[in-house]
Amino acid sequence: MESRILPVDGWSKVVHFTDKESGLEAIISVHDATLGPACGGCRIFPYASFEAGLEDVKNLSRGMTYKNALGGIPFGGGKAVIFADPKKDKSPEMLRAFGNAVNSLDGLYYTAEDSGVSEDDMKTIQSVTKYAAGIHAQGVGGNPSPFTSRGVWRGMQAAARQKFGADSLKGLTVSILGVGAVGMELARLINEEGGHLVVADVNEAAVAEAVKRFDAKAVSPEDAIAADVDIFSPCALGGSINVDTIDQIKAKVIAGAANNQLKTPDMDEALRARGILYCPDYVINAAGVISVGLEILGTWTNDEMNRRIDKIGDTLTEIFKRADAENAPTGAVADRLAMEVIEKKKAE
Ligand code: NAD
Repeated sequence: MESRILPVDGWSKVVHFTDKESGLEAIISVHDATLGPACGGCRIFPYASFEAGLEDVKNLSRGMTYKNALGGIPFGGGKAVIFADPKKDKSPEMLRAFGNAVNSLDGLYYTAEDSGVSEDDMKTIQSVTKYAAGIHAQGVGGNPSPFTSRGVWRGMQAAARQKFGADSLKGLTVSILGVGAVGMELARLINEEGGHLVVADVNEAAVAEAVKRFDAKAVSPEDAIAADVDIFSPCALGGSINVDTIDQIKAKVIAGAANNQLKTPDMDEALRARGILYCPDYVINAAGVISVGLEILGTWTNDEMNRRIDKIGDTLTEIFKRADAENAPTGAVADRLAMEVIEKKKAE
C-alpha cells in the first residue's frame, strides 16, 4: 500500500492511500483532533474525479468536527472516502486494505459506516483494525441509522415547538426527500405520532413502501422540496437547499438528516430572512455518530443513548433562542457554539 500526505491548509492530516492489489483508492481526512481522536464514517462513492472526492472528504471531515463538538462526545472531526462504486467494485480485499490504511494512522482516526458501507462491511474492516465502530455487539451500538432517525425526530419536535408552539407532530405535515435507511424510520416515527407525510425518492420501491405503510403521498423530488407542508425534511443527498430551490420552499421548518443540506453558506441567512427555521444539519443528525462514539468509549447503554438523543432537541432549542435573540441565522449560531466548545478545550 502506498500513502502520501496531502498538504491541506487548516486540516490536521489528510492522507491519500492506494493499493494496487485490492484496487483501493482512499483518502482519510482528519480536520481537527482537539477534542480527541477524529471520528467519522467512511463513504464509498464513484467520484467523477480525485478533486471531487478530496473536496467531499474535506467538507465532511470539517462538518464532523462541529458535529462531534455539539454532540458532546470527546472526538475530533474526521472522515474517509473510497473511490469506488459500492454496487460493483466493493470487495472484502478492498475493505481490508482500507482497514490497514486506518490502522496506519495509529488511532488518530476511528471509522464507521457512511453511504455505501454496511455493518457487515464494517465487520470486515474491523477484522484488521481496532479503530472501527458501528458494529452491533451484545445489544450495544451497531448501525447508526436508526439512532439518527430518532435524533432527527426529536429535533423536528423541538423545531415544531419553537415555530408552531406545537406539543407534538400530530396534525402537522412533513415532506421527506429520501426514504432510505434514515428517512424511512423517520417516516414511521412521524406517522406513529399522528403526523402526515409527503415522500419522494428516486427509488420507486422505497416510495411505494412509505405509501403503503404510512399512507404517505408520493411526489417527485422537485415537488417534495416545493410541497405546501409545515416541515421539509431533506434525507437524501446534500445541497437540496440552493439558489434554485429556496424560493420554492413553502415549509416553515427544515429538519432533516442529510449532511451539507445548504449548497452554499449564504443559504443560512437566506432561510432566516424568509422566516424559515433551519435545524443545522450536523446538530440534528448527530445521534448516529454519538452512538458510534459511546461504542468506542465503552459507555453505550440504551438509557444513555436515549438521554443523548433527547439532548439533541435541547441543543437545538438553545440554538433557536440564541438565533432569535441575536437576529442571526441558526447555522452560524451552531458553528459559533461548536467553536466555543473547541476553544474551551484548547484553553484547558
Ligand atoms: P440511504 O442511502 O439509505 O438513503 C438515501 C435515500 O435517498 C435513498 O433511498 C436514495 O434512493 C434517495 N436519493 C438519493 N438521491 C436522491 C435524489 N436525487 N432524489 C430523491 N431521492 C434520492 O442513506 P441514509 O443512511 O438514509 O442517509 C440519508 C442522508 O443522511 C445522507 O445524506 C447521509 O449522509 C445523512 N446521514 C446519515 C446518517 C446515518 O446514520 N445513516 C447520519 C448522519 C447523516
